[in-house]
Amino acid sequence: MANPDTTTARLEAKPEGFGSVLRTALARGVVRRALFLSFFISVLGLVTPIFVLQVYDRVIFHAGLSTLYGLVVGVVLAAVFDYVLKQYRARIYQSLGVRLDVVTTEALFKRLLHLPLAELERQPSAHWQSLFRDLELVRARFAGPIALLLVDLPFVLLSVALILVIAAPLGWVIAVIVVAFLLLAWASSRKAKMRAGEEKQAQLSRDGQVTEFASARQVVKAQVLDETVTRRWREAQHQSIEATLQRSVSTDRYRDLGQMLAQGATILMVTVGALAILNQEMTMGALIAANMLSGRVTGPLNMLVGQWRTLVAYRQARARLDALFQSPIEKSGGSVPLAESKGELEIQHLQFRYPGAVNDVLVALNGRVGPGGLHGLVGPNGSGKTTLLKILAALYEPSEGRVLLDGADVAQFARRDLAQWIGYLPQAVQPFAGTIRENITMAWPQATDDDVRRAAGRAYALEFIHDLPDGFDSQMGEFGLKLSAGQRQRIALAGVLVRDPPILLLDEPTSDLDREAEAGLRDELHALSRHGHTILIVTHSAVLLSVCDGIIALRKDGRLRAAGSAGDVLPELGLVRTDGATE
Ligand code: ADP
Repeated sequence: MANPDTTTARLEAKPEGFGSVLRTALARGVVRRALFLSFFISVLGLVTPIFVLQVYDRVIFHAGLSTLYGLVVGVVLAAVFDYVLKQYRARIYQSLGVRLDVVTTEALFKRLLHLPLAELERQPSAHWQSLFRDLELVRARFAGPIALLLVDLPFVLLSVALILVIAAPLGWVIAVIVVAFLLLAWASSRKAKMRAGEEKQAQLSRDGQVTEFASARQVVKAQVLDETVTRRWREAQHQSIEATLQRSVSTDRYRDLGQMLAQGATILMVTVGALAILNQEMTMGALIAANMLSGRVTGPLNMLVGQWRTLVAYRQARARLDALFQSPIEKSGGSVPLAESKGELEIQHLQFRYPGAVNDVLVALNGRVGPGGLHGLVGPNGSGKTTLLKILAALYEPSEGRVLLDGADVAQFARRDLAQWIGYLPQAVQPFAGTIRENITMAWPQATDDDVRRAAGRAYALEFIHDLPDGFDSQMGEFGLKLSAGQRQRIALAGVLVRDPPILLLDEPTSDLDREAEAGLRDELHALSRHGHTILIVTHSAVLLSVCDGIIALRKDGRLRAAGSAGDVLPELGLVRTDGATE
């Protein structure tokens, strides 16, 4: 009864992509206002060349001192006005930058948190970190120098038009210069496109090495992996430097070509202008003013050649962000949660394959646990026990088949709703920096002191917490490193138990515990299972298996080997109960 529809039911594709996040961040009318201001700033930019033209042609040749004073007053006023407008425009872009930062970072964070686990596991952590750096490129594009350049660019035409008016014989020269710059910008964009991808990949690989070292520093020190780590880092660093170098060679080349072109433009303008003056087609003042205006044309165009790399990098960042925002996310609400759970989990025709893998990890599994009871999930390494637990906890979507909670397909529930019915303790616990209390209440901040104490008691952690000088307020340190592995494991379990979910899925909860703690936890779990909780434990511990009511055994190939009461299945598996307990 495989139901293919259910395979994506818990995921939903949110129609709004990164584009709509950007639209929210880009306050309405900002670009229009910026264009408006840029227009006036560009018009004011024409004042100085006109001033120079007038001074040369009118003041110097006709000794018009009163004209000079008038012109100076005008040009100074224009400069002040220009300053005020530029400040205003800068303010607009500063607040836009802040807004972009806040809105896009929050949207990205939320998006990542709603991605299914399988998707998150598909990429290394450096990839997810790099998405936040991509946001910096988005900021640069919409609120950085490149944004200013883009709004200024159309008004280059004003300078071109004025050159045509005051120095008509230079019209074809400026046309040639503009075309030459556009060709150069186009050529540099093609090169930048090729290089930017390589550089990004190399940087990702290098950053990945750093992240890996930072999180595995204990192992690196303990096993003296200095040489291996250094070699791996050096290789990644070498590739990154190589890619950056190649990219720099090409950007430097285009930057210098741009400067050369600007120089060539001046030489051409002055030469053609001088000839025009000799032919009495143009005045000296017109040539000087036209030369100044050509600087206002070549400046932004030259900047465009240089900034093209940022634009290409932005476009690639945008593609990555768009892809992320288009990929399906977990349902975040809208489901009708169960009012109460009996604690019965059932799997039907369950099949699972990791993305990109060749073989199924779990094959044709059927079965039911609960309501109530303590159940052991056993099988050789790699038989799929952890995977099955993650599917039951709705962390993975089954490739085929379905999981039912009290007869209802879990695909219809949002994970947030499911979390109150199903508690899951992963195999490798990863505490957060902060106090023990903060770690226990992390998933349920409204927990009372009684809830915390009760959960710690059930996780057999109360005794050692009381022995610590600061008790529940003791700091755990980064990754909980100030505590022992067994203590960390029990605090993580207390964090699962604090909400008192009726179903508990525990992946090797005693792997780091000493014998006494293991026996203590066994008794607590046994007692819980007698008070309405359904507990499924992945374990190899004979101590835990000894109190299990039922056993599910998987084979190496992910098929069911046996399932039934512990009394029947354990002897069949050769795992005999150690304490002679009977059901
Ligand atoms: P067990 O808990 O029984 O030791 P797991 O469920 O951890 O087994 O793993 C079952 C199989 O799935 C293993 O062969 C493992 O290689 C594979 N596997 C586990 N996690 C992943 C993953 N994230 N991506 C791809 N394959 C995986």
